[in-house]
Amino acid sequence: MGLLCPRKQVTMIQFVDVVLKVIFVQGRNFLWQRPSECPKCANWKVWGHGHVQRNFEGFSVPLWLKRYRCPECGCIIQMRPSSHFSRFQSSREVIRFALARRISHGKWPPGQFSGRMRHWLRNLRRQIRARLTEKWKSGLMKGFDCLVAMGRVPVSRSI
Ligand SMILES: [Zn+2]
Repeated sequence: MGLLCPRKQVTMIQFVDVVLKVIFVQGRNFLWQRPSECPKCANWKVWGHGHVQRNFEGFSVPLWLKRYRCPECGCIIQMRPSSHFSRFQSSREVIRFALARRISHGKWPPGQFSGRMRHWLRNLRRQIRARLTEKWKSGLMKGFDCLVAMGRVPVSRSI
């Protein structure tokens, strides 16, 4: 594969504990904690590599997320808030709460887009079917937590 595609850009996601509201206020001036080493090749030094804008629920404008680049292996390190799954605008907590409520009460919590929440539930079922054994069928929220513990995104569309 490397021969076919020698310049393929690898992006590593680095989850960090940050408060989105502070990033919203400070924008690109927010001081991210520089990764101590490259997560791919463990090189000791990574360089700043600009920012990207990402949307998050509760913010009317996209927020600036910092990137780093490893000069040794060339991979890009994308910083992400640990409160959110990669690619999701709603926080892990919001997603988990909505699903738990729907599963235990049969109703979605108000104030969320129900279409979005239905996708989460459908994807959770798919992830459980694909990744966990049959015994999880009656315990969707246990399955959710188990998938998280496995490092998976339990509501991801892609299997
Ligand atoms: Zn590297």
